[in-house]
Amino acid sequence: MNEAELPSLDPSRFETMLDFERWRRFDRSLRRGAALMEGRTLVHVNSTMNGGGVAELLSSVLGYLLGARICSRWLVVEGTEEFFVLTKRIHYLLHGKEGDGGDLGPAEAELYQSVLAAEFVPLAEQIKPGDVVILHDPQVVGLAPQLRDLGAYVIWNCHVGADVPNEHSRRAWDFLLPAASRAHAQVFSRAQYEWDGLEAGRVVAIPPCIDAFSPKNQAMGRDQVDGILAATGLSGQPRTGAATFTRVDGSRGQVFRTTKVIEECPLPPGAPVVTQISRWDPLKDHAGVARSFAEGVPLELGAHLVLAGPSPEAVADDPEGATTLDELWDCIASLPASIRSRVHVACLPMQDTEENAAVVNALQRRSDVVVQKSLAEGFGLTVAEAMWKARPTVASAVGGMQDQISNGVSGVLVDDPEDGCAFGVAISDLVRDRSRADALGEAARASVVDNFLAPRYLSRYLELIASVMAA
Ligand code: UDP
Repeated sequence: MNEAELPSLDPSRFETMLDFERWRRFDRSLRRGAALMEGRTLVHVNSTMNGGGVAELLSSVLGYLLGARICSRWLVVEGTEEFFVLTKRIHYLLHGKEGDGGDLGPAEAELYQSVLAAEFVPLAEQIKPGDVVILHDPQVVGLAPQLRDLGAYVIWNCHVGADVPNEHSRRAWDFLLPAASRAHAQVFSRAQYEWDGLEAGRVVAIPPCIDAFSPKNQAMGRDQVDGILAATGLSGQPRTGAATFTRVDGSRGQVFRTTKVIEECPLPPGAPVVTQISRWDPLKDHAGVARSFAEGVPLELGAHLVLAGPSPEAVADDPEGATTLDELWDCIASLPASIRSRVHVACLPMQDTEENAAVVNALQRRSDVVVQKSLAEGFGLTVAEAMWKARPTVASAVGGMQDQISNGVSGVLVDDPEDGCAFGVAISDLVRDRSRADALGEAARASVVDNFLAPRYLSRYLELIASVMAA
């Protein structure tokens, strides 16, 4: 069991960003929350500190609770390789995909429970009756029964699901239901992900959010973007602008670690850039993005494709990262030379998550089009991040991306995630038509302000905690 350090962030920075009514609601909800949580601790538990949407969410928004005097902690369980292979299998099944086809029988239940039983021992030392524990995703839901027996209020937040449940999702539900149903409430990122068999009235849909001020999403000027990309080795230009960003604690950060970039030629200055940034997970379909770029984006547009993700060894609960990356390289090697020279695969350094975030921020801002061609997706924070930066997005119409993008208004949704040709056409249209791309980007940013910033998410969570305690 590890603990992530959380910064204390002043929630009043939202006062100038939100309209008066929204700010007043948020402020009121934090005050109520602080009164309710007096003498208690809000403990979030998940299985990785780095990589992926849940780590991003927790690292960026919990600080506002601390800033509002709500005692909050983030604990991270450790697991064995076998455990993470099993939880990855469950992850696929919850997405409605077969995954590795392995069993979910008594031996797997024994493995799952024994790893969590060992993690429960140090966890129990940190929790007192009346505390609130929020468990994130299938990796840790198995802790719910013991935490409840300890006298904690337990909420399980499931960030993954299938738009239409099938036999695969039901297999995972059957495996996890005994533990999940012991939580006082179950939160899903979308209403469509809610499971059969959970008690009605205890299930809520709360989409995640982004933090507008974090290194991942803070405003950056063009010089800063160029400076950061040059400093990390993601552009062919010599560095001119400063490679700096503002750290969470307000100090100045500097990007200096080098990104490992696999490319035949560096990204030319001024070339249109199409980007997908994701963990190296087959469900993100990086290879499919490369193929749709090769087949559907005409050479005369001069566009370049950047496929970026974390250094694979840095994401503890993602055992497939290195293999997925190898497969992507094989796929790119098979493309014609004229295309290969326009594709850049970037493994971003993860030693300093704030530096990594600043590079992601700069890359998203440098992009003319941001793609998320996932075959399945829980929510897709990368889409919210790009929309916040007023980037036009092209995403598969799966999972939470359908809740974020209004097709043709704030981005483009492609109905069939396997339809590489449709992706190619949508990307090319946006590279060609800058004024349409800008209009989509502006609408995208407005939609994030309305729906996917931290105040809304935190207020909804605090309301849920109040209702759980009242019940
Ligand atoms: N991300 C990152 N560094 C990387 C690649 C991804 O910080 O090198 C972040 C990305 O910006 C986003 C999160 O990881 O905040 C991915 O969340 P998303 O919901 O898109 O997908 P998940 O990984 O949870 O399936």
